[in-house]
Amino acid sequence: MIKFVPILLLIGCAPIAPPAIYDHPFSGELLIKRVSGDEANRMCNAYVISRTGSVAGCSYSMGNRCVVIISTDSLYDKEAVLRHEIAHCNGWPADHRR
Ligand SMILES: [Zn+2]
Repeated sequence: MIKFVPILLLIGCAPIAPPAIYDHPFSGELLIKRVSGDEANRMCNAYVISRTGSVAGCSYSMGNRCVVIISTDSLYDKEAVLRHEIAHCNGWPADHRR
C-alpha cells in the first residue's frame, strides 16, 4: 500500500519539526526529486482531493522505498522540508501527531 503525505505551503510558517522517534535518516531506498512549484503541485496533488495551496513537498513510500518531492519554489527552508518528509518515510503519520 502506498502512503502519500502532502504538506501545504503556509506562508510564514516553518515546516513542523518531526518527533525525535521519526527524525533520523531513512534506512531504505530514498529518492529525492527537486522540482518546480507547478511540478510539485501536480505530483503531490495527484491523490489529494481538496487543495488549498501550493505544496512545499510531499512523500510517498512503498515498503522500503520512499520518494520525496521538494518544491524548489517554496518559501520553506528546503532542508527542513526534506527532514519533515523523511520523517514521514520513517512512519510519521500524516496528522503530525507527536
Ligand atoms: Zn507532513
